[in-house]
Amino acid sequence: MSGAALKLGCIADDFTGATDLANNLVRAGMRVVQTIGVPSGPLDAEVDAVVVALKSRTIPADQAVAQSLEALRWLQGQGAQQIYFKYCSTFDSTPAGNIGPVTDALMDALGSDFSIATPAFPDNKRTVFKGYLFAGDMLLNESGMQNHPLTPMTDPNLVRVLQSQTRRKVGLIDHSVVAQGAEAIRNRIAALKADGVGIAIVDAVSNGDLLRMGPALADLPLVTAGSGVAIALPANFGLQASHQAAALPAASGLQAVVSGSCSVATNAQVAHFIARGRPALALAPLRMAAGDDVVREALDWARPHLANGSVLVYSTAEPDAVRSIQAQLGVEQAGALVEQTLAAIARGLVALGVRQLLVAGGETSGACVQALGIAQMRIGGQIDPGVPWCHAASPAAPEGLHIALKSGNFGSTDFFTKAFTSLQG
Ligand code: ADP
Repeated sequence: MSGAALKLGCIADDFTGATDLANNLVRAGMRVVQTIGVPSGPLDAEVDAVVVALKSRTIPADQAVAQSLEALRWLQGQGAQQIYFKYCSTFDSTPAGNIGPVTDALMDALGSDFSIATPAFPDNKRTVFKGYLFAGDMLLNESGMQNHPLTPMTDPNLVRVLQSQTRRKVGLIDHSVVAQGAEAIRNRIAALKADGVGIAIVDAVSNGDLLRMGPALADLPLVTAGSGVAIALPANFGLQASHQAAALPAASGLQAVVSGSCSVATNAQVAHFIARGRPALALAPLRMAAGDDVVREALDWARPHLANGSVLVYSTAEPDAVRSIQAQLGVEQAGALVEQTLAAIARGLVALGVRQLLVAGGETSGACVQALGIAQMRIGGQIDPGVPWCHAASPAAPEGLHIALKSGNFGSTDFFTKAFTSLQG
């Protein structure tokens, strides 16, 4: 592709967050590729935006900075006209970072003297008012996020939170300004800059607020945000929502679901698939631990069923069963063992001709994508909020396969059957 064609270059601090952002950009009219890590070569498709998925949310700040700068250099090499640093809609970070240090480093590298920060994502019930972040009806520090194991969020005031992480002065563009529209926001930015502010938290309580904000962000070299602001940026590049943006190659090949998620929604989805009479095979983690060839057994089981439509291979279990396995094997060991087994099964299924693969579970998805050697995914239409079908090349399927990665509690109860129907449509 010609470098100048790339409009928006995005750096996301985790994998499912990257997909969430990509999904919003596609819905607002951009053709999007998500890459897993920083690609080693140039982009192989003509698109409007690229989302580089890092795993930098909770690693040491200096490493997060180094990885983000590497992603920036690659995106600049592809001609990106604006950079978007994407973090979690609950602003997951600690006083050590990584939102502040990464923002500082990106602004320095871009020679930018002003940027904004807003995790607002009203569609997902994340709103910012007077600089305070709400999750649903709760302030952030009452929402459960105060107990997060890695990034406990005990202060809902984002001006204070970000100020503790950055050497730039942090200010606020509050709702009374945002409500007046782009010109008022531009004026406020000019006033803040004159006051020495380098980064402003921006209030938004509705999609209307995000859309009013959009035009005022057009000239910023760097925007930092959750995935919400994405709905307002494509219009700055003359793009409108269109079915074209989500177009993927026609689907073909066999269909399978691999599920390692034990979330409430996934348990219901597994039960629904089985109740619909579709073939499903439950895997026993203790047999994996005993060294039984569970992968070969699963593939032998799947082979005859695949000709008749979608099949499901799952380790999904109810909380009591999961706790019992974890008590016997150890939490991390059980997780890694099951992830690796499911990933090997996913690769085996693709070798059997599966070209429409649905994976349930965030960590499980990471393991499967890695096992399939997928480096880039073109993002298609969403099956349910936050879960799009994607198309990706893999050494196991050089002509490409369709893959959907569903984390934890996403998706309706009939998701495992609906997903394949929506792909045909
Ligand atoms: P989610 O998106 O629902 O959190 P993940 O795939 O991220 O799903 O996490 C589920 C974790 O639980 C994975 O590490 C997976 O290997 C592990 N796991 C899956 N099934 C079982 C099971 N039956 N017993 C114990 N651990 C399991």
